[in-house]
Amino acid sequence: MSRPAKAYIDLRALRHNCELANSLAPNSRTMAIVKANAYGHGVLPVARALEPLVPAFGVTCMEEAVELREGGINKPVCLLEGTFSDDEIPLAAELGFWLSVVNKQQQEAILTASLKTPVTVWICVDSGMHRLGLAVEDVASTYRSLATSRNVAGDMVVATHFACADELASDLTHRQLQQFRAGVASLANADTVPLSLGNSAGLLGWPETRVDWNRPGIMLYGSSPFSVPHAEADRLRPVMTLRSSVIALRDVPVGESVGYSARWSAQRPSRIATVAIGYGDGYPVHAPDGTPVLINNQRCPMVGRVSMDMITVDVTDLSTVAVGDEAILWGKGLSVNEVANCAGTISYELLTRMPRRVPRVYGD
Ligand SMILES: *Cc1c(COP(=O)(O)O)cnc(C)c1O
Repeated sequence: MSRPAKAYIDLRALRHNCELANSLAPNSRTMAIVKANAYGHGVLPVARALEPLVPAFGVTCMEEAVELREGGINKPVCLLEGTFSDDEIPLAAELGFWLSVVNKQQQEAILTASLKTPVTVWICVDSGMHRLGLAVEDVASTYRSLATSRNVAGDMVVATHFACADELASDLTHRQLQQFRAGVASLANADTVPLSLGNSAGLLGWPETRVDWNRPGIMLYGSSPFSVPHAEADRLRPVMTLRSSVIALRDVPVGESVGYSARWSAQRPSRIATVAIGYGDGYPVHAPDGTPVLINNQRCPMVGRVSMDMITVDVTDLSTVAVGDEAILWGKGLSVNEVANCAGTISYELLTRMPRRVPRVYGD
């Protein structure tokens, strides 16, 4: 006895995708990005499944890193935006978290902290995305001051992030690479300093970004970062399959409308299936009429406005359909990218905003 709306998480597919990331860049190390509750998949089961395959994890903030430690994950965890307040620095050092340094305030705070153990630092360079990171001109001075500080452990990594790596002909990516290389060239140890460049799109689509560390996120979860077919990205397997069931069926005569605002009305005698999933379950409220839904593995158009707990699907063309039949909203057989596209959003958003109300069911 339970509501049928559930997100099935295929940990075997997750591992497959991670192994693909590893195999594309056998000379790099993979930092698995598990921020935002592992893109909505549930951070602890995901991190436990990936821990044997990767040397480190990346998250957004201290809260997410602590959740990993408390869940028994012992590998290093990198805070991709560094600290938000200075009291996080001793905690990061104590718990073995790596700190990004994305501005001079963070640099200063690490230099002046009083730490029992030194902390590992990633210096993040703004190579052209202009969101976070140190200016290219400041990389050398920041590197020098941190490298000579007793508060900083071992090898620092110098990293950057691309704005347009998902656009395979992007000129900006070339310019960012040039800027980044100029920043690295200004370091005394330019030839040996470890570097980190690519997110999923970089790793998959830009071989020159495969350096010491890659930082794949979305590809681990089986969603291609590209809007066009791509030989490697198309080998990814979807990890989350959002499923529910048909809970009602009715025949709607020509001219009668379905759902809120009477957005859709029948142009022919129509059989309408009501499925127990809605925007309260992370299904996009902006999904238009015609957004595909798999009913018993056959594509049918969603019709009428998405409700909080239900959607309506035109199943007129199916030969058989019954209450209790399976509905797949995205995942196996229907890519989350396609549904996101229909709804004017991106797979990242659909996955990360999956609410708590939808139980995650893990399978291997
Ligand atoms: C989120 C994030 C990534 C992962 O990006 P994907 O596009 O999901 O692969 C990599 N690096 C940084 C700094 C990030 O914030």
